[in-house]
Amino acid sequence: MAFAASPASLSILPSTYSCSNRRRAVPAPLASVALRLPLQRLGFATAAADPLLAAHIASKMRGMGGRSRWVPRGVTAMAKRSVGDLTVADLKGKRVFVRADFNVPLDDNQNITDDTRIRAAVPTIKYLVGNGAKVILSSHLGRPKGVTPKYSLSPIVPRLSELLGIKVAKADDCIGPEVEKLIASLPEGSVVLLENVRFYKEEEKNDPEFAKKLASLADLYVNDAFGTAHRAHASTEGVTKFLKPSVAGFLLQKELDYLVGAVSTPKRPFAAIVGGSKVSSKIGVIDSLLEKVDTLLLGGGMIFTFYKAQGLPVGSSLVENDKLDLATSLLKKAKAKGVSLLLPTDVVIADKFAADANSKVVPSSAIPDGWMGLDIGPDSIKTFSDALDASKTVIWNGPMGVFEFEKFAVGTEAIAKKLAELSGKGVTTIIGGGDSVAAVEKVGVAEKMSHISTGGGASLELLEGKELPGVIALDEAIPVAA
Ligand code: AMP
Repeated sequence: MAFAASPASLSILPSTYSCSNRRRAVPAPLASVALRLPLQRLGFATAAADPLLAAHIASKMRGMGGRSRWVPRGVTAMAKRSVGDLTVADLKGKRVFVRADFNVPLDDNQNITDDTRIRAAVPTIKYLVGNGAKVILSSHLGRPKGVTPKYSLSPIVPRLSELLGIKVAKADDCIGPEVEKLIASLPEGSVVLLENVRFYKEEEKNDPEFAKKLASLADLYVNDAFGTAHRAHASTEGVTKFLKPSVAGFLLQKELDYLVGAVSTPKRPFAAIVGGSKVSSKIGVIDSLLEKVDTLLLGGGMIFTFYKAQGLPVGSSLVENDKLDLATSLLKKAKAKGVSLLLPTDVVIADKFAADANSKVVPSSAIPDGWMGLDIGPDSIKTFSDALDASKTVIWNGPMGVFEFEKFAVGTEAIAKKLAELSGKGVTTIIGGGDSVAAVEKVGVAEKMSHISTGGGASLELLEGKELPGVIALDEAIPVAA
């Protein structure tokens, strides 16, 4: 196997991570999924639920992995030692185990359909290569059950080689004598990608023996996989017990800088926009942000629980009847904290949950029976935009409506465009993962934002004030003497 000996050209500190214009497909109706879950568990009063709307919410909940069971935890300032603190003296000739996140979408022919995560890992790898390290990359891809060729990391190699400007070697396994032999043959400044670490069930179990085997391949550790930092797995947490130093990569560092740093000490006024399907999945985020923001704008499916809690008619909109008291208490908390909490004043309603539904705009207080709210209306867009105009920091998590249907994407897209405009005026704009990222990409304004999080679940946990095991395990930042 041939390796290029010369390091790739360096651009060391990343300022932004660009994203491709990936378009999300409209989800196929999943009525059968909904029917398998009791409607009450989806948050509906049984009789009112439109089966397609219920199916849509069921598909979201499966992706959340039970996120609605929120447990509050204290916020910790996660000041961690960074790969940028390591010099050529620390790195030259050293074997560095880098946990990256190459869990990218692939089509049926194994072509990468969105390379954002690969590009986001490049600055750390280039820095290590440029300082003469031997870079050992580890990642998972998909959810394999044992060795599954479909989930091999081989399709990543050509794109990664192209981005780095050097030929990346590929190991057929992630531990064992063959891998050791390959690593021993690596020249300084070269890169090898290990096979999918989740081909071993020990990875997700954080098995110490497996972690030890992974760690034995290297001298030191860099975690740059923000998307899995909320999981204590062997390659994200276990290995840190055997490798010193264990530091944060540039991507992980940037996520922490924005999602912890900018949110804890924001330029004010600080506004948060929270949307998405259900209030239950965002309780933690809303509760935590109410401690920090000056303005909170709420949109998406969760608003109808707030309206109902205030005694307003909601037709057949998504409502979580068991969260009415919670909605009331969040409104009270906002008032007590002096946070200006804005709910949409008008909504776009539909006669069914479908892309081609009949629709009209009505005041939020006048949703007729049999109609459901699927987007925020034009007055709300105007009010929200005015509130955002007055802000210096904005964080956004969750779409304003069912943006997967063009007809109900207007509110979400208007917010995306507004944030892009504000970014151009020096406002710090943070897109906190998940569907809001898909929305800014759809509108083609991702490049304009200050920060786009690469991890949906991890960013939500950070915003909730939780500690991420993959971050906690890293070495503390070394204080610089004044
Ligand atoms: P989340 O994963 O909680 O951020 O929710 C994102 C989902 O919320 C998207 O798939 C949207 O389609 C959905 N959503 C937004 N607004 C509504 C609404 N008014 N009714 C039902 N679902 C909605």
